[in-house]
Amino acid sequence: MIPLMKPIMGQAEADAACAVIASGWLTQGPQVKQFEDEFAATVGADHACAVSNCTTALHLALLAVGVKAGDEVITVSHSFIATANAIHMCGAEPVFVDIEDGGYNMDPLAIEALISPRTRAIVCVHQIGMPCDLPSICAIARKHGLRVVEDAACASGSEISVDGCWRKIGDPIGDVACFSFHPRKILTTGEGGMITTNDPAIDARCRLLRQHGMSLSDLARHTSSKVMVETYDEPGFNYRMTDLQASIGRVQLSRLDEIVAERRSLAARYAELLADVPGVTIPHQPEWARSNWQSYTIGLPPQADRAQVMQSMLDAGISTRRSVMSCHLEKPWRNARRGHLGVSERVSATHMILPLFNGMTDVEQITVRDALAFALGDAQEKRVA
Ligand SMILES: *Cc1c(COP(=O)(O)O)cnc(C)c1O
Repeated sequence: MIPLMKPIMGQAEADAACAVIASGWLTQGPQVKQFEDEFAATVGADHACAVSNCTTALHLALLAVGVKAGDEVITVSHSFIATANAIHMCGAEPVFVDIEDGGYNMDPLAIEALISPRTRAIVCVHQIGMPCDLPSICAIARKHGLRVVEDAACASGSEISVDGCWRKIGDPIGDVACFSFHPRKILTTGEGGMITTNDPAIDARCRLLRQHGMSLSDLARHTSSKVMVETYDEPGFNYRMTDLQASIGRVQLSRLDEIVAERRSLAARYAELLADVPGVTIPHQPEWARSNWQSYTIGLPPQADRAQVMQSMLDAGISTRRSVMSCHLEKPWRNARRGHLGVSERVSATHMILPLFNGMTDVEQITVRDALAFALGDAQEKRVA
């Protein structure tokens, strides 16, 4: 079986987690603090705040930029449903904008038509690790006084060139960026999330709200030589990351460049291999973007039956998935306000994800290519017959 994705977990991660167990400090402690500092330094942000997952990261980031009940937040429908759900968690409403033709990310030209007096923020997504056009999105946001939250769930290690300078995603270009450490992403801690920003007020707000609205951090109380009593001045949440997770994350983070470099060469190899499969479109990477290739998605020819292609590949021992969903096609978001979503719907219906994981061999990539070519040929013959 060729899997879609394999987390790279080894003895170093196991040793790190064992050391935390032996230390006796299991949550929101020194490992979390070090993971935050190392993550901030890696992406080039002033602050990083660790949380329980990216959905809670988005929730806190939205609250921290001032999103409240009754507000509207412009985002893409073409994303994992957590993007829209996190907006709902603030009592606000997602308003869906289409993606660019030929890509997977927010179309900046479609944003302005959707701005209303209730619009407070934009949540843009670096979908499947491909950076979105942040400078254009931020320019529109600035013009209309909106805040920008980056859903960077899939984008650890991705880079964007701004004014001729390459910057890692999370080096804040918007107001705040949110990452996921779910096993389906580039770095994993089992579950986990991170919020990066250069704004100390946003960072402070996230830290307060992730821990029950408690005025003192555990770390500050623990390291103080004076008795300190905390206060709780507003309702908060429990969105803490454990030190077990953080210790694993630190090992993973130390390998980020290596992980991403290997994925980039696997993606380049797919581009070569798939060039002669008729009708298949491969992902477009703008010259100002460097993806981490969290997923490798392809577009199928218009006449292909995607379910049949995926079944044929599964029969050949190859795991695939449909590409990114469109949230407005799911029950909770069917009636959300939106622009024309023709590209989102077409891409959600006709694209699929091929296996791409660290340690994938050339033979495995060739096997995937051959099975895809066979599935497409087979599907076409059946239709003719
Ligand atoms: C995975 C994902 C999320 C949710 O991340 P969790 O850590 O599972 O909460 C949010 N947005 C996007 C775009 C994702 O891919």
